[in-house]
Amino acid sequence: MLRIKGLTKRYRTGDLALKGIDLDVPDGEVMALIGPSGAGKSTVIRCINRLVEPTAGTVTLNDTEITTLGGAELRRARRRMGMIFQEYALVERLTVMENVLSGRLGYVGFWQSWLRKFPQGDVDEAFRLLARVGLDHMADKRADELSGGQRQRVGICRALIQNPDLLLVDEPTASLDPKTSRQIMRLIKELCAERKLLAIINIHDVCSPSGSSVCNLARSSMTARRRTSRRRS
Ligand code: ADP
Ligand code: MG
Repeated sequence: MLRIKGLTKRYRTGDLALKGIDLDVPDGEVMALIGPSGAGKSTVIRCINRLVEPTAGTVTLNDTEITTLGGAELRRARRRMGMIFQEYALVERLTVMENVLSGRLGYVGFWQSWLRKFPQGDVDEAFRLLARVGLDHMADKRADELSGGQRQRVGICRALIQNPDLLLVDEPTASLDPKTSRQIMRLIKELCAERKLLAIINIHDVCSPSGSSVCNLARSSMTARRRTSRRRS
């Protein structure tokens, strides 16, 4: 269960990106966060994994309050969150397999990973995931040889090999053509269902995945704004 209460973010520039967001996502549920560009969708995701420090409010994942964690505890909590990016964020000159295995870097020791010595169990799991997304025959290809849709499939495998409790997905199809977008969105939804994964998927347009809950960030921040002005008056 992910619980967000009163999440507020004011950037140093003065931009008030989030104005007191409340959001509950039960286990196994996929929540689509929709809203136009600039509505604060990426800010919500980055506040959850603390790549951005919230100005106020709390984020709680399975009884752990993420917003107060520091150091090793925060690193441990982040390992439980898989992330999928719009621009894939692969290491271009590494192979597909190496990119997928990099999702385990939070687990294997530094020297082990530097020497690229991953446990056989991780390599087997990477092959299983690549087969699931239809890329097992491409394990040895370099990432820069792949199409956009293939890159995002690698990004999905890299997030899932973390075995996360929560999947954070930021506009996964914004760089893809419409047909590939639909395939990738369907794949993410199927994988979440298979693994009973709790997920937040940011989508800037109306092509939200069917069957998932939807939170309209534009509307919820409008609600928050109304509440603030009532309090002031
Ligand atoms: P979305 O992902 O919905 O497009 P963002 O979360 O990226 O929205 O941005 C929400 C608001 O916060 C926008 O007004 C944006 O300009 C602002 N913003 C985002 N990141 C920063 C930053 N690092 N510094 C200052 N303002 C930012
Ligand atoms: Mg964004």
